[in-house]
Amino acid sequence: MTPDVGPVPAAVLFDMDGTLVDSEKLWTIALDDYAAHRGGALSEATRESMVGSNMTRSMVLLLADLGLPTTEDEIRRAADWVAARTAELFGQGLTWRPGAQEALRTVAGLGLPSALVTSTIRSLTEIALETIGRDAFDVTVCGDEVDGRNKPDPEPYLRATRLLGVHPADCVAIEDSPTGVAAAEAAGCTVIAVPCEVPLDPGPHRVLRDSLTEVDFTALADLLPRVA
Ligand SMILES: [Mg+2]
Repeated sequence: MTPDVGPVPAAVLFDMDGTLVDSEKLWTIALDDYAAHRGGALSEATRESMVGSNMTRSMVLLLADLGLPTTEDEIRRAADWVAARTAELFGQGLTWRPGAQEALRTVAGLGLPSALVTSTIRSLTEIALETIGRDAFDVTVCGDEVDGRNKPDPEPYLRATRLLGVHPADCVAIEDSPTGVAAAEAAGCTVIAVPCEVPLDPGPHRVLRDSLTEVDFTALADLLPRVA
């Protein structure tokens, strides 16, 4: 039987916050502002545990850290407040992570399909896309588009590969957080893991790099598992 021969990898799947843009620092400002607004302060450990998570989980952690009730109503109001503040901050402009802009350009130049796979909600992602560029991706999957099955669940990555019509095992994902790496690995992708705010451990399906500038995007095929 002749194996399918397509582009290698079949697609490149990019996380957004902390991977393409340095937006985790803006999330920290918005979360700290909310804590102050409620008369408290967010602990560093809880902030770290939120990195890569979706809004609902982050709000539960935030409210619990502040000693506030985690009722549905509290979660919704906290999410609205933090989203509004983050929108203000995103609207002031986003800083690229080193090598990210070049990575997107190289992937596009090679004609490889690409996706944005983010835990951030669509409305905020659209603001970020003003900086990143909508044309950089064939598909975008946001945190409020996965039926609550957010990273570290594999669903965001699986949804992106379904929309692209590719097999996850043929894809390379780029991530910065333990939560995001876990999601991409659970989906079956090979992961280029570039830590931003939180350190990452080595693992069997991940390639650890200090910066995207160290990644040769013209040689991604070398990272994929070989089929015997
Ligand atoms: Mg991230």
